[in-house]
Amino acid sequence: MSTGHQDCGGLFKSFTFQDIRGANPPKEKGVYVLRIAERGTPVSEILEQTSQAIKHLQWPVVMDKMRTKVSRLSAIGDCPVIYIGSAGTGNESKNTLKGRHEEFSDRHTAMYPVWALLYFGWELEYGWKMEPRPGELEAALKRQYRQHHDSLPALTAR
Ligand SMILES: [Zn+2]
Repeated sequence: MSTGHQDCGGLFKSFTFQDIRGANPPKEKGVYVLRIAERGTPVSEILEQTSQAIKHLQWPVVMDKMRTKVSRLSAIGDCPVIYIGSAGTGNESKNTLKGRHEEFSDRHTAMYPVWALLYFGWELEYGWKMEPRPGELEAALKRQYRQHHDSLPALTAR
């Protein structure tokens, strides 16, 4: 399936997309994705340059953590959708689409690779869909995504 990436087989047709740096998602439960709007420096070069920079940290535990996170960039292929996640999956969860977006500036699991892409000139979009049962929609989207692409989005935890 190499032709359907424009909208990944229509999977995210009903999502709202905004530039990740200015996105204003609602304080609601839902499913969110990260999408590449424009590519910058090739991933191989990003990996090379970040690996040089990380060496200078001289703090092994931090270096290992950053290397592991940033290395996920190597999974980026033709598909512009690089992450699928949900906000507010558990009944008691207070996570919202807005909260997840804020985590990308703070403590999100895909934060370092996202920062690296932005630093190297990539344009990224945060997309979301409000959904009262986000866990079910997230699982369904990941299942369908995998059927189209034979893998999960590049930065999604395995
Ligand atoms: Zn795709």
